[in-house]
Amino acid sequence: MEILDGKIVSAKVLENIKNESSIIIEKAGRPPGLAVVIVGDDPASAIYVRSKERKARKLGFHSEVIESNSSVSDEELTSVIAKLNIDDKIDGILVQLPLPEKFDTWKYLDMIDPEKDVDRFHPVNLGKIMLGRTNIYPCTPSGIVRMLDEYNVDVTGMNCVVLGRSYIVGKPMASMLTNRNATVTICHSRTKNIPEILSRADLIVSAIGIPGFVKADMVKDGSILIDVGINRVDTREAAEEFCTSKEIEKFEKKGYAITGDIHPAAFEKSSFYTPVPGGVGLMTVAMLMDNTFRLFLARTGS
Ligand code: NAP
Repeated sequence: MEILDGKIVSAKVLENIKNESSIIIEKAGRPPGLAVVIVGDDPASAIYVRSKERKARKLGFHSEVIESNSSVSDEELTSVIAKLNIDDKIDGILVQLPLPEKFDTWKYLDMIDPEKDVDRFHPVNLGKIMLGRTNIYPCTPSGIVRMLDEYNVDVTGMNCVVLGRSYIVGKPMASMLTNRNATVTICHSRTKNIPEILSRADLIVSAIGIPGFVKADMVKDGSILIDVGINRVDTREAAEEFCTSKEIEKFEKKGYAITGDIHPAAFEKSSFYTPVPGGVGLMTVAMLMDNTFRLFLARTGS
């Protein structure tokens, strides 16, 4: 088994952006601009937003975070996005999800100018992804494909199973794999007999959010296992069952640890796998920077 190493590949993606962007920024007279809109006080969202801001700044991008508390009105939020849509400094706009419950998420995602939609969740862009008519994709599935390319994994003709059907991961992932000539099955909470479907898979992408959901006896020898899940476990027992030794160490200090959806014993049977942490999550942030850069190139005609 070989690790698809998110640390190495994401560093490469960021390095490429840095190398490519310096001359182009000089020519364009301004850096790529990313705006993140965050509403409410979800601690995980706040951590993700800070990390995106740090990465953008490190690349020399213009970075704005527009924060509101959850009492912000619909009109105010609408106006924030409308202003960003016409702000020349901004190439990519992202609404950090989830929004607090009272907000109609699609209303705001639909409002983002599709040309500035850096997460690619606007219906126009999701449609283009399905049709194979774009080269900018949602960050998580895009990061997975980038990792597979880096390790020369060609999915043509493979039996791929995507666990989860969200518009953030599962659906675009399935479209991207189909467009790359894989045969794709999508599973969700109503799917019957998931273990049997998984047992025939050459490649599994799991985006469900349940620790240890994919067990060793469900996967075949030599399969490729991509773990998208990010799950927090709060007991020592769970940390010892599901987490890497580094995460178990962290549990001792913090009282919690992070793991994915795939049981570590399943990785033992794989040809390639992505660890959690250290796999898909790092790629997601790197691809956000890549998408911002690509939108900048398109908008400046560079
Ligand atoms: P989501 O919108 O909650 O979707 C979860 C999907 O899992 C749904 O399609 C759901 O089915 C399915 N599901 C839930 N329980 C199931 C079960 N017992 N059997 C089969 N399917 C089941 O989640 P998401 O946004 O796609 O995220 C999924 C996971 O990936 C989470 O852990 C999230 O934190 C993580 N994530 C990681 C990254 C990263 O960068 N690494 C990025 C995004 C998300 P239904 O549709 O039938 O409800």
